[in-house]
Amino acid sequence: MQDAIKLTCLTCGQANRFPFAKLEAGPKCAKCGVLLIGGDVTDLDDLQHDKATRADDLPLIVDYWAPWCGPCRTMAPEFAAAAKALRLSTRFAKIDTEQFPTISQRLQIRGIPLLILYAKGKEVARLSGARPAAGIESFVRQHL
Ligand code: ZN
Repeated sequence: MQDAIKLTCLTCGQANRFPFAKLEAGPKCAKCGVLLIGGDVTDLDDLQHDKATRADDLPLIVDYWAPWCGPCRTMAPEFAAAAKALRLSTRFAKIDTEQFPTISQRLQIRGIPLLILYAKGKEVARLSGARPAAGIESFVRQHL
């Protein structure tokens, strides 16, 4: 276990550092005050996406989705439930690939919904297709 944790704020992009012991207390962003680990799914834009996937001390799972995609909308509450369950080990975020098409081009995303798990600034694994919360949780646990 490390002594300090570095986490990018998924809302404003601020790089935060705090002692590992504060993890469960619900650390907040030094700049904008949002909870860094709140068990919520944060909506990313392209800039926050790139910052957050680069090098954080907690793994991040991103849901690549679009408003027109029915299975994506079906999976949203499942993804949110998994985010609560894995609150202290993994952060959850999503990005609208219709609004930010350059992201899907760069990552060569051909079908959505697609989940990509990142750890230490690297892509660890992908899971495509809509999944129940339990399936998302076991996917994350299996790769960390
Ligand atoms: Zn912030």
